[in-house]
Amino acid sequence: MAPAAAATEVEVDAWAARDTSGHLSPFTLSRRATRPGDVKLKVLFCGVCHSDLHQIHNDWGNSIFPMVPGHEIVGEVTEVGSEVKAFKVGEIVGVGCLVNSCQNCDRCTRHLEQYCQMKVWTYTDKDYDGTITQGGYSTIMVCRQEFVLKMPTNLPLDAAAPLLCAGITVYSPMKHFQMDVAGKHFGVVGLGGLGHMAVKFGKAFGMTVTVFSTSPSKEKEACELLGADRFIVSKDPEQMKAAAGTIDYIIDTVSATHPLDPYLSTLKLDGKLVMVGIPQKPVSIHAFSLTSARRYVGGSGIGGIKETQEMLDFCGEHNITCMIEKIPISYINTAMERLGKSDVKYRFVIDIANSLKPED
Ligand SMILES: [Zn+2]
Ligand SMILES: [Zn+2]
Repeated sequence: MAPAAAATEVEVDAWAARDTSGHLSPFTLSRRATRPGDVKLKVLFCGVCHSDLHQIHNDWGNSIFPMVPGHEIVGEVTEVGSEVKAFKVGEIVGVGCLVNSCQNCDRCTRHLEQYCQMKVWTYTDKDYDGTITQGGYSTIMVCRQEFVLKMPTNLPLDAAAPLLCAGITVYSPMKHFQMDVAGKHFGVVGLGGLGHMAVKFGKAFGMTVTVFSTSPSKEKEACELLGADRFIVSKDPEQMKAAAGTIDYIIDTVSATHPLDPYLSTLKLDGKLVMVGIPQKPVSIHAFSLTSARRYVGGSGIGGIKETQEMLDFCGEHNITCMIEKIPISYINTAMERLGKSDVKYRFVIDIANSLKPED
């Protein structure tokens, strides 16, 4: 019999946080019956993003419990709705940070769903039908086809999962702010999940890459493993002084509160610094750091669906993946603790298919 769209909701195994303690434990959730425009997938891998850690502790004040986190989701299509033409059963697909948007506003029509004022996050958000969205720490996802991505077939799927948030979060501003010019000098502040991807994209775009980090111990991995050309210990005023006026563009991935002036001083005339990390406290900048060399500070959040697909295709062509530690779901609470101490190189990815009981 041909696989007809399921008429009823399905019970799905998952792990959820029940309160702001952030402790995750087994949980059962209902996924909606597959609608005409939906794609249903069996989740294979899900990355553990730093925002998952923030959300389980309600650090941003918008968390909804019980919460199944996860927005770096790779899976295999098990069913498609009657209107779905672009995806087939058996295909490997991804779902990132978004699962819905209005599709009508000036942002959506420019493929900038990430800035739609009615966008719906993949978890801990309310969807248009009133249900609370639940993420990829679960065996099955059901998602509108407009928010499903095709994964490059040549990349290892576990290491490709974090491209769906960490990858696009640095790729999008590099493209939008034209910080992807071969031969230019690119600076990356912070060498975590986002920062190590920025180094890889910088090299793939043909740029000279400098990594700024507070940890001198990261020099070897930055230069030898990731291919950075220069490493600066940002706590060392002498090293920072020596770098003054040498960099064209900086992407700042750090979420801890930190002053921007020391980094701005390393920019050339017309240099740009774009923030993608979100410190909890307001950012301080001395205006002189901007006016003295016509410098620019901007910000950017994730990316649109079209651009995410472009980024995935680019990664397929250039063989770009994340460096990951693959874990079973049972390790997730320890992983969260370690993530809080930046003790991961550079992304935990949960092997969902082999560690959570699959249901159909
Ligand atoms: Zn994320
Ligand atoms: Zn919209």
